[in-house]
Amino acid sequence: MRHLINKIAERVRAIEDRLTVRSHITIAFAVMIVVLVGALAAGAASIAYRHTSELINIRLAATASITAERLDRYMATRQREVHLFSKLELLQGLWQGDHAGLRTALEQLQSSFSDFAWIGFANPDGTVVASTMGMLEGKSVAQRPWFRTGLHDSNVGDVHEAALLASLLAKRADGEPHRFVDIALPVRNANGTLLGVLGAHLDWDWARNIIASSEANDGGTDTRLMVMSKQGVVLTGDGVNTKRFDDRRLAVILQNRAGTTFEKVGDRDMLTAYYVSRGHREYQGLNWIITASQPADIALAAAFHTAKNILLIGAAVGLLGVFIAFLIARRISSPIHDITLEANRIGRTSGPTMLQRQRGSLEVVQLTQALRSLLRRIGFAEERTKEAELRATENALQLKDDLSRLRQLADTDYLTGLMNRRSFVVAANDAMEFALRYKRSLATLMIDIDHFKKINDTHGHSIGDIAIKKIAEVIQSNIKSTDRAARFGGEEFVVLLREADEQTALALGDRIRHAVERAVIGEGKTLLAATVSVGISLVSDRDRDVQDMIERADQGLYVAKNTGRNCCVLMPASSEHGARAA
Ligand code: GH3
Ligand code: MG
Ligand code: MG
Repeated sequence: MRHLINKIAERVRAIEDRLTVRSHITIAFAVMIVVLVGALAAGAASIAYRHTSELINIRLAATASITAERLDRYMATRQREVHLFSKLELLQGLWQGDHAGLRTALEQLQSSFSDFAWIGFANPDGTVVASTMGMLEGKSVAQRPWFRTGLHDSNVGDVHEAALLASLLAKRADGEPHRFVDIALPVRNANGTLLGVLGAHLDWDWARNIIASSEANDGGTDTRLMVMSKQGVVLTGDGVNTKRFDDRRLAVILQNRAGTTFEKVGDRDMLTAYYVSRGHREYQGLNWIITASQPADIALAAAFHTAKNILLIGAAVGLLGVFIAFLIARRISSPIHDITLEANRIGRTSGPTMLQRQRGSLEVVQLTQALRSLLRRIGFAEERTKEAELRATENALQLKDDLSRLRQLADTDYLTGLMNRRSFVVAANDAMEFALRYKRSLATLMIDIDHFKKINDTHGHSIGDIAIKKIAEVIQSNIKSTDRAARFGGEEFVVLLREADEQTALALGDRIRHAVERAVIGEGKTLLAATVSVGISLVSDRDRDVQDMIERADQGLYVAKNTGRNCCVLMPASSEHGARAA
């Protein structure tokens, strides 16, 4: 489980890393807006739905109760009319025996209100003595409930069919049987003696008309009204003479007397309000159950509509909210985006070196400040590194310079500037190795100033030094740049000649000798001349090292000194050749 949670968290983090701040903010806002607006819209829609359905219930209940009241008022009025009629002073004589007169009066009462289908007067025995249109006159109604209860009290009888009367009336256009409501009351003389029972049959059509007009005035809501007897038998509406409710529900309705309920009629859900009639004034009422029903889908369509509209508005507000969230996110994230772009340009060729100040939020300002400070520190560190590098290079160069100078010093004779013995031997060794390997010629000249002690003794040591320097200059100026000249100590010089055979070596030795001879040595009044003796040797493949060649040149020099000085003597490699003077 923990492993799974970690895996999911890792995956979420990976997705987060790929999303921009703008997307983060937009998504966060969007989720918040969708949840808030969704919850609000759903709540509002549910409240509106409940409210609207309650209103519909109230309206249905009102329709049922108003219709019940209309029915009761109607019945109460008819009962009162019949009662007033029976009490009319003028008619008192008619009840006693003027049956023809009574019939006329009854017909007048009937004509005042056409819903009276029949009005008749039966004597205490139950024989009809006078009636409208003479219907049922002479017939006995003694067994009829209306008569029997009418003997004692004013009463109203519930809807019923009356076969005998119906046979005398014209057939109904819809083919349904005539049904009546009875109003009956005892008629007594001034002494209170019962004269008979006055009965009136009201054609049930009046109730149907009231129901029809109520249905017609339902404001197009498809409201269906029904009237049922207190036994639950349908008096008006679909399924006349059938029971609409089971006993349990009927008992609940009669007990509650008003309310609303859900019904299933066929496969249709119905919203039904019921109202049990309560009579009006003297009229006790018959506990008729009046129902007003509407198919739930039609009744609640308005509620659905309201809820749907609220949800649609919620969705629109949500979308607008998401759009605003996107704009806000863009505004918040754009400085970060700008910083990234700018930071990317920093340090590239011809790019900026400092970040521009960015604005947008405290964090952005602080971030730019921190980055600017970081860049400044990096720049400072960079400059110091460069400086250190420069100094190191300088030091290295200086060291190199010093070294080369040192080397030069170490390799150079301090008095003449020529190579010294050590550096000469190194160079001569290289040259000799090369010459032996590639079979090239190489010669060595050993040069010594003649009678130098005398110069020293005569003119002083410093003039001696001047002489040494001057002769060194003469030697240097007479050799090629590839040749090497060195002071070997005292007033002795050695020259290494590359690519020089015997002739060349002898010629160069002579040239030097002559040049020295011609040179004027000294300063001021002290001017003198000097000569040199030269010993010459050539490289031989029998030489063990350069010392052998130098040694031979020295031997040549020795010979030169002994043969009169101011001359050149070449000492050949093999002794049998003997020394050769130039
Ligand atoms: P020779 O013709 O046989 O060479 O006679 P020489 O007098 O030149 O004899 P040698 O070459 O033996 O004498 C060298 C002298 O050079 C000895 C020394 O006093 C002198 N000398 C050596 N080095 C220096 C130097 O650096 N400066 C001076 N002024 N004299 C030096
Ligand atoms: Mg010497
Ligand atoms: Mg000498």
